[in-house]
Amino acid sequence: MKQSKCSFCEKPENLARILIHGADNAFICDECINRAHELLNNEFNLSKSKKPKLSNANILKPKQIKSILDRYVIGQDEAKKYLSVAVYNHYKRILQPSDNDDVEIEKSNIIMVGETGTGKTLLAQTIAKILKVPFTIVDATVLTEAGYVGEDVEGILSRLLQVADYDVESTELGIVFIDELDKIARKSDNPSITRDVSGEGVQQAMLKLLEGTVVNVPPQGGRKHPEQKFIQVNTKNILFICGGAFDGIEKKIANRLNTRAIGYGTLNDKNNIDKNNLMQYVSHVDLKSYGLIPEIIGRLPVLTCLQPLDRTALRRILTEPKNAIIKQYKKLFAIDKIKLEFDNEVFDYIVDKSIEFKLGARGLRSICENIMTDAMFEAPSKQAKTLRITLKYAKEKTNKLTANKLHVA
Ligand code: ADP
Repeated sequence: MKQSKCSFCEKPENLARILIHGADNAFICDECINRAHELLNNEFNLSKSKKPKLSNANILKPKQIKSILDRYVIGQDEAKKYLSVAVYNHYKRILQPSDNDDVEIEKSNIIMVGETGTGKTLLAQTIAKILKVPFTIVDATVLTEAGYVGEDVEGILSRLLQVADYDVESTELGIVFIDELDKIARKSDNPSITRDVSGEGVQQAMLKLLEGTVVNVPPQGGRKHPEQKFIQVNTKNILFICGGAFDGIEKKIANRLNTRAIGYGTLNDKNNIDKNNLMQYVSHVDLKSYGLIPEIIGRLPVLTCLQPLDRTALRRILTEPKNAIIKQYKKLFAIDKIKLEFDNEVFDYIVDKSIEFKLGARGLRSICENIMTDAMFEAPSKQAKTLRITLKYAKEKTNKLTANKLHVA
């Protein structure tokens, strides 16, 4: 029998992966489909037209950004305000025509200081989601100077490229969240005494990236570019948001404020300094005392701090954000047509446990998992259409729980 073949390239059926049959005994093979698709893309810019184009008309105003952040992140009003303004300015700067006057708007990279689990990553993630730009998170602790074992700073951009599906144009408008920046602080304020080469070296390596430079990025795992060794990415318009807990920075702040972090020194009472929350007074000077080099600090002009989450905030985090943990469980059960209900005391209990284990917001999910796992195992095989989680049930499921047993991401 005569073999069918592609009506375009005449490839026979046995050599094509797919041969699609059309009218009048015409066929098209997978390769020709791909070629036609590429042609259309190039001709009509199809793939690009799907992307939201940045324009003065469609960038969100700071208040709009903040109100969206409010839906996902509880509290942290000051940080939200700083972030909203910084992001707004960042995109205004990008859209600024490079013209006439000498006023050059500088990049507004951001640094957020605050205990772990207070929402730094969540804020950065949400910002990226709002703006629909590529976003990646890197842990500063894995970064090393070029030539050392670990990840070169350029690796940060490989990840962003991957997220952007190797589209350089959108990569160059992306957001990078560098977590644990405090961990690459120099151990001493004075470089001549204790030189912590690795930390300082990484900071040095990061400088150019933050400021804006063209980097040759190895397309790690980039199957799409086997023949291409490096992809050039300009970091000029990439927004860097850094975060860190900066454990112990309160002492530096206290020194600067000339008061004592612990105890009842009353030196500054007249200035109304809230000694229980010194973090709110954090300034660039304190970051320097902590061990960030002045050049890095200079490239992170927007500094904001996140407040520790109190009981009320934790309680709200459980149920209020758009994708709050409890809402997620309810949705999971709803898929099985089961109505999930919680007694109010259960929420207070979960919060208490999280505080007891000193896990803050990070503990909430793991405690919930411990309460819910058996129910999630049993309920889908039962007939009941409603499941009510009582305080007694929650206690039963968590009575053997210790902080060590909880896996906190
Ligand atoms: P950080 O980066 O400050 O260590 P994360 O943003 O990773 O903290 O927070 C850990 C988890 O805790 C998040 O997934 C989120 O569910 C929750 N969380 C923390 N802070 C908040 C907050 N202010 N509002 C809502 N959820 C929060």
